[in-house]
Amino acid sequence: MKAFSFLTQKNEMNIGVELENEDFNLTQAFDIYQKAKHIRQPVSFSYIQVMVEMGYFSSQTVEKIFSDPWVQAKKDRLKIDDAVRIDLPIARPSKIICIGRNYLAHARELNHEVPAEPVYFSKAPSSLLPHEADIVIPPWLEGRVDHEAELALVIGKAGRDIPESEALDHIAGYTIVNDVTARSMQKEDISKGNPWFRSKSIDTFCPTGPFLVPPGAIPDPHDLEIKLTVNGQIRQQAGTSQMLFRIPKLIQAISRCMTLQAGDIIATGTPEGVSALNPGDIIDISITGLGTLRNRVTRGT
Ligand code: ZN
Repeated sequence: MKAFSFLTQKNEMNIGVELENEDFNLTQAFDIYQKAKHIRQPVSFSYIQVMVEMGYFSSQTVEKIFSDPWVQAKKDRLKIDDAVRIDLPIARPSKIICIGRNYLAHARELNHEVPAEPVYFSKAPSSLLPHEADIVIPPWLEGRVDHEAELALVIGKAGRDIPESEALDHIAGYTIVNDVTARSMQKEDISKGNPWFRSKSIDTFCPTGPFLVPPGAIPDPHDLEIKLTVNGQIRQQAGTSQMLFRIPKLIQAISRCMTLQAGDIIATGTPEGVSALNPGDIIDISITGLGTLRNRVTRGT
């Protein structure tokens, strides 16, 4: 099961799910399901994040809804046209945390030391960008802008000081993040001893999506292939098995310092092959089971 946010023909936000290669409206299916069950105080979900925060986002919930006879009877009407505009799976996370140097070969290509503990930083949530929207390089920004293909997870259950043994229970699902970086600006800031937050947080520099896929549909997040192409040419290709610190360790290390809230996004680091982007470039990032995130690069005016 893959979930996505989309705009209906009436321009309303709804949740869609891909089930056996067909797309259905989950928002409407859930409404029908609750009516059929005579639920007294029905809830309506238009946003995946609200569903995650209320603890309803899981493969089991979706299976239960779609196997209900009332929903089955109306399944044809719940089909979604392929041409819908996909929006962000999670639009307002309280934070986006990114792991740096989590793949050996990438740490080496940037001449960084290999860390003994996870190294992490943040991207401003205002930098989020949906599938098929344009990455806009500001007109004043000079130097290199890089792509960074990453497996990301979304927190489902809030927690602090989460032990590694319980970490996976806190995950609502997985998605793709392109941790776009103003590399020249970042290097300049580092050389001056300044924080490099701004180089990671420029508007549109965090393409995310297109889907949120619950853990039930991803048997092993450390056995996925990440592939990034620019204009059809492969630039990054690696297995998530090559991560230095695995997901439970990342969740433990971050949550020791800060509470992880439902909806928070953690990008798990990029493998080797980061390279410069130019206006007109089309970037496709595919991760096993998570679909393909596509964005074009433009120069702002
Ligand atoms: Zn990154």
